[in-house]
Amino acid sequence: MKAVCWHGVEDMRVDRVPDPEIINPRDAIVRITSTAICGSDLHLYGGKVPTMKKGDIMGHEFMGVVEEVGRGVSNLKAGDRVVVPFGIACGNCWYCRHDLWSLCDNSNPNAAMLEGIAGYGGSALFGYSHMYGGYAGGQAEYVRVPFADVGPLKVDQGIDDDKLLFLTDILPTGYQAAEQCGIRPGDTVAVWGCGPVGQFAIQSALLLGAERVIAIDRFPDRIAMARDVSGAEVINYETDTDDLVETLKQKTGGRGPDHVIDAVGMEAHGHDVLSQLEKGKQYLKLQLDRATALRQAIQACGKGGTVSIPGVYAGFIDKFPMGQAFGKGLTFKMGQTNTQKYLRPLYEHIVRGDIDPSRIITHRCALDDAPGMYKTFQEKQDDCIKVVLKP
Ligand code: NAD
Ligand code: ZN
Repeated sequence: MKAVCWHGVEDMRVDRVPDPEIINPRDAIVRITSTAICGSDLHLYGGKVPTMKKGDIMGHEFMGVVEEVGRGVSNLKAGDRVVVPFGIACGNCWYCRHDLWSLCDNSNPNAAMLEGIAGYGGSALFGYSHMYGGYAGGQAEYVRVPFADVGPLKVDQGIDDDKLLFLTDILPTGYQAAEQCGIRPGDTVAVWGCGPVGQFAIQSALLLGAERVIAIDRFPDRIAMARDVSGAEVINYETDTDDLVETLKQKTGGRGPDHVIDAVGMEAHGHDVLSQLEKGKQYLKLQLDRATALRQAIQACGKGGTVSIPGVYAGFIDKFPMGQAFGKGLTFKMGQTNTQKYLRPLYEHIVRGDIDPSRIITHRCALDDAPGMYKTFQEKQDDCIKVVLKP
């Protein structure tokens, strides 16, 4: 089959690789009908995530049709249409049984590799390095889905792939980011980053009752989408303000936003000295993360608020404003998304028409065009916000 494979920093290729096969009784083989490039894939593309090997198959946002199931999978059969969560979870361990699917104790055979960074191993992820399990991803014609009896959600034949595909990751990620703020009626939420995760965080915060959402980015197309599609007030941090934290305070009667969401993560852009210093340290591999957005979010957040962090971080952060966080009594919530927990409720929102996730798609192309699309997406060229690949 054809698959998008990692060959090194900024080197993706479409290779011919062997078709996947059932290995364990709880596996399924899914023929991919749609798959996407995620902001998280850019961390792999840019070589920011260790333990990638040449030839690794990329992709963790995919859906398709079941081709074959192992003898341990009784809830799916060939021909079923499914969306598949990006995190792989067993369904049986303490974490899965407590809806903490992204912390599954059983799915990652290489959990020990993560322990140095994360303290404990988390769940495995499709197509996301060997420390996350080394599973082949779904930017391919077929994929093996482990624990297929618990992860995939069977979906209606009548709804377009484009509306359902983002159930696999970014829609639940934006939703969890908003939900974990504990939004009360009247609250104002500020969201850093108007990428796909930011867009769904904005939409979810409004769905969950926020009165105002203020979204922050620097790319006009993303800001326009945040305003026109997702329904936020917007700030371009390059052209609308000299002091973002101060501007946010002014917009909220001096209190700061009630909650803040960092939908940027470890590759934040910034002009200040600290941002430049972090860029240098990241280049020299002295530090994994650039935390400009996170620092600003903590500084801007109102007293008693929640700092919700869907953006991915991987290591230690210097100059972390812990005193401010303590002084304001902030709550921190973060982590990989517990996608399985949100699949069905968000699917029902889509079926009812409360959310149309397809509105964030800006580019569609064939699998063969993926390498070029990685570049376009990384460089934010051509107003590219979300790419869907059709194998
Ligand atoms: P993306 O790269 O498309 O979007 C990130 C956006 O942040 C860009 O629009 C960029 O301009 C903006 N940005 C950069 N620096 C900024 C700053 N200082 N202030 C404000 N905005 C800034 O990525 P995405 O797909 O939207 O994903 C966002 C983050 O969420 C990534 O870190 C990704 O890895 C992470 N993610 C996490 C999970 C999870 O399970 N927690 C799942 C999916 C994605
Ligand atoms: Zn993703």
